Amino acid sequence: MAKEIANTTSFLEYAPAPESTSILHLKKSYGLFIDGEFVDGHGQSFSTISPATEKKIAEIASANTADVDTAVSAARRALDKTWSKMSGADRGKYLFRIARLVQERARELAVAESLDNGKPIKESRDVDVPLVAAWFFYYAGWADKLDYAGLGANPRSLGVAAQVIPWNFPLLMLAWKIAPALAAGNTVVLKPAETTPLSALLFAEILQQADLPPGVVNIVTGAGETGAALVRHPDVDKVAFTGSTGVGREIAKAIAGTGKKVTLELGGKAANIVFDDAPIDQAVEGIVNGIFFNQGHVCCAGSRLLVQENIHEEVVDRLKQRLSTLRLGDPLDKNTDIGAINSREQLERIRTLSDIGEAEGADRWTAPCVIPENGFWFAPTIFDNVETSSTIAREEIFGPVLSVLTFRTPAEAIAKANNTPYGLSAGIWSDKGSKILAVADKLRAGVIWANTFNRFDPASPFGGYKESGYGREGGRHGLAAYLKSAATQGAKK
Ligand code: NAP
Ligand code: MG
Repeated sequence: MAKEIANTTSFLEYAPAPESTSILHLKKSYGLFIDGEFVDGHGQSFSTISPATEKKIAEIASANTADVDTAVSAARRALDKTWSKMSGADRGKYLFRIARLVQERARELAVAESLDNGKPIKESRDVDVPLVAAWFFYYAGWADKLDYAGLGANPRSLGVAAQVIPWNFPLLMLAWKIAPALAAGNTVVLKPAETTPLSALLFAEILQQADLPPGVVNIVTGAGETGAALVRHPDVDKVAFTGSTGVGREIAKAIAGTGKKVTLELGGKAANIVFDDAPIDQAVEGIVNGIFFNQGHVCCAGSRLLVQENIHEEVVDRLKQRLSTLRLGDPLDKNTDIGAINSREQLERIRTLSDIGEAEGADRWTAPCVIPENGFWFAPTIFDNVETSSTIAREEIFGPVLSVLTFRTPAEAIAKANNTPYGLSAGIWSDKGSKILAVADKLRAGVIWANTFNRFDPASPFGGYKESGYGREGGRHGLAAYLKSAATQGAKK
């Protein structure tokens, strides 16, 4: 790949502006967070590294089956003894306290997230961490209003929730999982991704600071086996998973017939549809945000650009110009637009799929970035003239790679957009409101953005159709995924 990247010096050179890491006081090693305390794990510990430098950040404990069992027992005890007995208003107070502590420690959390994940500090600082606080504030407000969640009076929590999350938005996915679960009166055992455990462990410290009763939230670090043991545990009532469709399918099979409730937030291959009457400058920014935000490690990324044929050339030219100004490099530098790819494995996957795209005949263009010597990097890449049947039009690449397809009529745009096994998100760019509504109505996608992309709000439900999973997170719908109606369960107040 190196030979494709011209070693040019951009006329837009910026002096380095690295965010200081002095705010972080990391320990050399971290245990599991069970029953309100950090304890040793009995699995083989592992290192978490910075994907930008490949340097070790800390040693992380791994939970084996017995540790998972201890964590689930702690969650069950906390449910029975404290959390289910507490009023909604009191649960809300803890959630408000957590939200405020996230705000107080925002800079530290953003630095930790960028260090461990590789995402640019301006994204973790301005998007991830503020949204984490927003999620806790939002669900804190729901805790004493569950009668209005749409399940009748006195809805009940499901019980102990097992939550497994991916590496692309480590702290934000934790917030999406923990905030509604606690507001609805559940207790939690959460497993972060193996490559990004750090912010979840700092969050455990925040829970201690907030005096959350022991066992209400437990965090078990480890690899896939830890997640598998957790979701299968017989004393778990609810499973919430965000990750790949393959693992989601395995989990669905493993727990089928057990009576556990489940929500699955899986992959995507979103269409970002640009009509010829769209404001082009705005659309170009939206396309860039849609697929190059967070290095394209975004389940709802606009990875398929569907552009109307008569503006195809203009849009692709402008995109190339825009991408040539993006700065790739140190995630902790405040000027960085494109950070590191999260792991060597993910980099290999992006490289393999891109090579397949080229072999299948699409035109490959790579932004002229200087690639740092160490770490995992992939320069923003566009594939033009992609066929609907091409692998890179069908499979999720989960990297900074855009596939460009064209259409002539709205009907063709809709048919191409829906021609995917996924159905998580979509974008529509047009000056005409009626066209946007008519097209949106026919797209089989859980979230549809109009003249914008990758906007998130805790009040808005998020989730997919088809192989993108089932259930919704966010908003009132996200609460319903952690509640049962008192009437249907015969529960007394
Ligand atoms: P992944 O391999 O499915 O991993 C997700 C989580 O599941 C990780 O914590 C992983 O642990 C764990 N895990 C692995 N095998 C397991 C098993 N058999 N049972 C239980 N847990 C298991 O996904 P990923 O590659 O990390 O994440 C990327 C995928 O997530 C993409 O496909 C993306 O679209 C999807 N995603 C979806 C959403 C959404 O809301 N729809 C949001 C973000 C990401 P390890 O880390 O140790 O492997
Ligand atoms: Mg890491």
